[in-house]
Amino acid sequence: MRVANADGRSVLVVDDGVVDIATASGGTLPDDPQLLYEHWADVRSLAEQAPPPTAPFELSALRAPVPRPRQVFAIGMNYAAHAAEAGVEAPTFPPTFTKFPTCLTGPDATVELPSAFVDWEVELVVVIGRHAYEVEAGSGWGHVAGLTVGQDLSERIVQTRPPAPQFSLGKSFLGFGPTGPWVITPDELDDPDDLELSCTVNGEEVQKSRTSDLIFGVDVLIHLLSGITPLLPGDLIFTGTPSGVGGTRTPPRFLAPGDELVTTVEGVGTIYTHLVERSAR
Ligand code: ZN
Repeated sequence: MRVANADGRSVLVVDDGVVDIATASGGTLPDDPQLLYEHWADVRSLAEQAPPPTAPFELSALRAPVPRPRQVFAIGMNYAAHAAEAGVEAPTFPPTFTKFPTCLTGPDATVELPSAFVDWEVELVVVIGRHAYEVEAGSGWGHVAGLTVGQDLSERIVQTRPPAPQFSLGKSFLGFGPTGPWVITPDELDDPDDLELSCTVNGEEVQKSRTSDLIFGVDVLIHLLSGITPLLPGDLIFTGTPSGVGGTRTPPRFLAPGDELVTTVEGVGTIYTHLVERSAR
């Protein structure tokens, strides 16, 4: 099952279009895409009834599939090769920060560059579907509604400014959380723990890896994070980026106005991010 946010309304994405969830359910399910995760079992039941499409599919109509999560967790240094390129040791506990939810945007987004030091990070993003607190290892996936594609856009000067790094601020400029195109349920994937993820800049491949290389996989992340704080339906976890970011290259490479990012997770989807100059305010 795939669910999306079409111009602010909850939809199922089916082979030949989209199904308006509130309409197809006779008003028993919410039109607000953020609230679907409070009713996830009923959304799945509706999809099983295979209601007919109510509109054609249009990528340009899609917004952030999970537009207002109460919590967004993001994990740093979760691929060994990325930790190595950043010059840090592989972590023994997932380094965790937040992307403030107002930075979230959709799968076909135009994002203004606040500086000349903005970097790309392809990530698999987990959407929580069931309240998760002190979840045992091995039970994490049972709390997942689905997966989506994310870009953890990062302004490296703010992120690393002394005396204490500000990961959450450096990664939360307006538009710095492209996500989408939809949320897909894990049962649609052959192995949700082994997905290729990649990113191109203007058609040039800059990142390519597999989620089987995650140091802390989805199950372990939910176990460890929920051991500290409850994870709520509709929360997001950006699971970390593999090697190939621009900031640790020699010389460093950052995004410029006019650049186009294409970000893909195998079996999940592809999102498109158009970078532009910051407009005058
Ligand atoms: Zn990241």
